[in-house]
Order: sequence, then structure tokens, then C-alpha cells
Amino acid sequence: MALVVQKYGGTSVGTADRIKNVAKRIIKTYEAGNDVIVVVSAMSGETNKLVALANEMSEIPDGREYDVVVATGEQVTIGLLAMHLKSLGYKAKSYQGWQVPIITDSVASKARIESIDDKNIRADLKDGAIVIVAGFQGIDAAGNVTTLGRGGSDTSAVAIAAALTADVCEIYTDVDGVYTTDPNICKEARKVEKISYDEMLELASLGAKVLQIRSVEFAKKYNVDVHVRSSLNENTGTMVTREDKEMEGILVSGVAYDKNEAKIAVMGVPDKPGIAAKILTPLSDAAISVDMIVQNVSQAGMTDFTFTVTKADLKQALLITNEVAKATQAKEVLSDENISKVSIVGLGMRSHAGVATQMFVALAANGINIQMISTSEIKISVVVDEKYTELAVRVLHDTFGLKD
Ligand code: ASP
Ligand code: MG
Repeated sequence: MALVVQKYGGTSVGTADRIKNVAKRIIKTYEAGNDVIVVVSAMSGETNKLVALANEMSEIPDGREYDVVVATGEQVTIGLLAMHLKSLGYKAKSYQGWQVPIITDSVASKARIESIDDKNIRADLKDGAIVIVAGFQGIDAAGNVTTLGRGGSDTSAVAIAAALTADVCEIYTDVDGVYTTDPNICKEARKVEKISYDEMLELASLGAKVLQIRSVEFAKKYNVDVHVRSSLNENTGTMVTREDKEMEGILVSGVAYDKNEAKIAVMGVPDKPGIAAKILTPLSDAAISVDMIVQNVSQAGMTDFTFTVTKADLKQALLITNEVAKATQAKEVLSDENISKVSIVGLGMRSHAGVATQMFVALAANGINIQMISTSEIKISVVVDEKYTELAVRVLHDTFGLKD
């Protein structure tokens, strides 16, 4: 007998029929003799609706009340699912975050899980019940309802699996697993059998949306094997797990892209100590996160300083940067929204030379100009003109032999 945590995302519980379908799978797992904890998201589209309503009430909705509102989507699904299981004669019990309780810090709309009390859940499991927990939510020390950031049900599931030392954590979604790249733009994309936490973290933060980043951080920290798979079929999905020798042999395991960034260039800034801090501090003060940063070699005491922010932050970032530019007597500030970041990720890069060269040669051969480059131990990202995104992804997928 095993303890299985299963998480079902919004599309998997998007209609009454789909919830009934999910129930079948849960029952199958339960009847096989396992203890089952189910974590569910809100029905697809519901959280978006709640967010939109909150935004109608106030330009900047109060954090505490925002969480009160957006946490309700999950409450509906846990109730519906538990109700259905009970109607079929099974013991089932729904839990909101505070009823578990899942204790978080107090950062509204992006709270972090601090601890999970397993007493109630364990008692129910012992009693033979299927436990159904609302994803995405918790409670802080002062008793406020909190939410974990969009996509946060993944993190709820992994955290519960870690706290109860579950044998398996299955994340059911509407795709078959983690792909070598987006199958929508590259027909030859292939499902990967397993991928290391670090590669998954890079891919997740690069715009591959299968798992919330924090859930992967959690899984890594507590060594939880996460099986990402489809709720629409019985196929084996992708195991997100500890790295092993075999993984090191693969140069590139995935190609990701992100069209969500924009570039800002501060041209002709005096190259003096402290200049990067001067430009970036007001941005971080405004909670704008900067992704890639490039500073040119200075010429005649002047340099260019280029960075990227999300498209959503561009307007505000430009206002701030223009002020800094004035104050530092920079020549001008340029921006470009039509860019995209294309990245390759692979553990093997750590121990093999020449991967970057191979990437740049392939892009050049296809007439794709590289505007910015950044690297980490297991990742190389380039910024290119947005219109080349699809081409760049396909070229790199091919170059690094990902199709077979
Ligand atoms: N319902 C939340 C969202 O849409 C949490 C989740 O689905 O993981 O972001
Ligand atoms: Mg999700």
C-alpha cells in the first residue's frame, strides 16, 4: 500500500463531467489499496473570473481581500468532488487550506508555505477516507486566508506530498508531460521520460508552463518525485526527479521560449562605479524584476546598459529608467517590445564545451541575429527578434538532436 498524492489542474476539473471522470481515476487508485490525497485547482477559467472581479472593485485590490476572493474557486471543486465520491459510496472529505491547516507566511497573493499539519489528514486516511484538499491556498499565523500565486496548486500538492512523505506525487494536467519544446510550434517535440529538478526549474522559469516554479523548488528541497501526466489518458508522463549519471550525458534536454519580455537600453551612460546599481535600484524598489542584463565595454568613458523586463512592466520601467537616465546624463533610452527569449537547457552543458558555439552557428546559418546572450551552468538564452521565435526554436530543436 502506498500513499499517493494526485493533483488535478483546472482543465481536468473544468466541467461536472470531467470531475466525475477524475473521480473514476481516484477510485481506481484507492481500490488498488492506496491511501489517496487529492489536490484540486479551481475549474478552468474560474480564477481568472475572480481576479477580473477583484480588479473591477478597485484599481489595486487590497491584498487580504483579494486572497479571500480568489481562494474561493478551489472551494467549489473540493466540495463537488467530495460530494460525488460520497454519492458513489466512498468515504471522502474536503479540506480548505485553513482546515488542514496549511500555514503560510503573510505575503498576500504570493504566500509561501511554511508548514503543514498532517494530523487531521492522517486521521482521515486511517479512517479509510479519500482526502481532498483545495490547492493554491493556506492560512497565515494571524488567521488570514492566503493564496500561493497563480498556478499554486502544484505547490500545494508537492508540499503535501513532502509533509506526508508520500510515495508518489502525480500532477495531472491536459498535456502528456514535459516536452523537449512546445509541440504547438515544433511538430517534432517529444515527451521526455525524466528530467532533473534543475533542468525543470530552468524550463519552468523560461516560460514552459507545465509546473509552477515553486513546486519544483519544493520538490527539489524535499526530494519529491513528481510525475507530470495527462488526466485524459493512461500514458506515462514525465518524472521530475533527482539527477543521475545518464542525464549528464544529454547536452540539451529542452528548448524554451518566452515572448513575454521587452528590452530597454540606456545608451551613452558615463561608465562610473555604481552605475548599474543606480539604474536597477529604482526598478527593484518598484518591484519590477529585471531578467537579462548586458553592459557593453566602455568607450571613451561611456557605456550602454541593456536589460529586459516583462512586457507588462515595460511602461512603468521606462518611466523610471528615463528619470534615471536624466539624472545620470545618459544619452538616450531605447526600448523594444518585439523581442523574444529563446533558450536551451541541459545538464550536459556543465561538462561539455562548445554548446554555445553550436547554438550561435545554427542561428546565424538561419539568418537570425542575436541581440543579447545570457548563460548559467545549464542554460543558454538569447534574445532575438520576436518574428524569429518559431524558427529559432525549430532550428535549435533540430541542431541538438531532440527529435529522436
Ligand atoms: N486556480 C489557481 C490558478 O488558476 C491555482 C492553480 O490552478 O494552480 O492560478
Ligand atoms: Mg497549472
